[in-house]
Amino acid sequence: MKIKGYAAQNAKSPLAPFSFDRRDVRPNDVLIEILFSGICHSDIHQARDEWGGSIFPMVPGHEILGRVKEVGSSVKNFKVGDIAGVGCLVDSCRVCGSCKESLQQYCETGMVGTYNGKEKDGAITYGGYSTHIVVDEIFTLHIPKNLDPAGAAPLLCAGITTYSPLKFVGVSKGHKVGVLGLGGLGHMAVKIAASFGADVTVLSGSKSKADDAKKLGANHFALTSDSADTAKLANHFDFILDTVAAKHDLNQALGWLKREGTLIMVGASHQPLDLGVFGLIMKRRKIMGSLIGGIRETQEMLDHCGKHNITSDIELIQASQINEAYERMIHGKVKYRFVIDAKSF
Ligand code: NAP
Ligand code: ZN
Ligand code: ZN
Repeated sequence: MKIKGYAAQNAKSPLAPFSFDRRDVRPNDVLIEILFSGICHSDIHQARDEWGGSIFPMVPGHEILGRVKEVGSSVKNFKVGDIAGVGCLVDSCRVCGSCKESLQQYCETGMVGTYNGKEKDGAITYGGYSTHIVVDEIFTLHIPKNLDPAGAAPLLCAGITTYSPLKFVGVSKGHKVGVLGLGGLGHMAVKIAASFGADVTVLSGSKSKADDAKKLGANHFALTSDSADTAKLANHFDFILDTVAAKHDLNQALGWLKREGTLIMVGASHQPLDLGVFGLIMKRRKIMGSLIGGIRETQEMLDHCGKHNITSDIELIQASQINEAYERMIHGKVKYRFVIDAKSF
């Protein structure tokens, strides 16, 4: 099947129109006509080969929402016309300990990424900056009907990446949660942490985001460059979720945690971050990382967002604006997720 999309031809080229083939629908596959595709900062890291090992040409996109157009003969859980989603992974070994626990993102032989990955047969995966995608139904998600489809697309990465660690550490009423960086992930973290009952503080480098932070559901805002703001935060938080996409000061954030507080890293700067161990030692603090979320938990997150009517605050763009969107994201100027209208591919 011939598909239209947008691709980066190499780490330096801007994204441009690109045609490619998708496989025919197999017995367990669904064919999805893409309606909306979110732009994640991971798309930028990979399209510019910042993490290394990128495969070109690359069609990024792992926040995919669309309508089922065709189902394979063995498909049980989807029918033509359903609104369906695809996130960051489209396959895994399915037999290792992690896969058996539906933690496919931690598959011991490596998950198959929705793009910039290799299927088991060696085929390169192409992502959501395109008109259609073919995915095994096991890796396809149901989208709650009450959610606005364009705003729901970013739940497939930004939503699950923030929901999963907040759930894992048990965030609930009474916890003080800091969200470092108010971009795509950060604004979803605010909404989700607030829905869990936490007292949420946005920790941002952008003064212009202060009013929005409250509108998104945060109780407090602190400008990370303002010493009067940050002085009040010493030993304050149970958890800080760090979503910053570039090199930044971890030690400052550690100092804002209570004794035994946890700094959770989801932001994926390609540059190593400096860690002074005394910030951990003196207060028995912890630091952990978290990668997206497994399929079962992604469906749980979508159902939670359906129940609480949580979607992303988006700016809908045309495919021709992708490169401009990347530049704005690199400068922290997105409010708060770009979503591409797939009709424009
Ligand atoms: P984004 O929308 O671009 O937001 C990143 C935010 O970080 C910015 O809005 C900005 O917020 C803050 N920031 C501070 N200094 C920055 C700098 N020098 N450069 C860029 N941002 C800076 O990005 P995103 O899509 O939320 O992704 C955030 C990070 O998470 C990326 O590294 C991405 O690859 C990673 N990620 C990880 C996972 C995972 O599974 N762990 C999944 C998805 C994405 P303020 O203006 O408020 O300071
Ligand atoms: Zn992502
Ligand atoms: Zn596995």
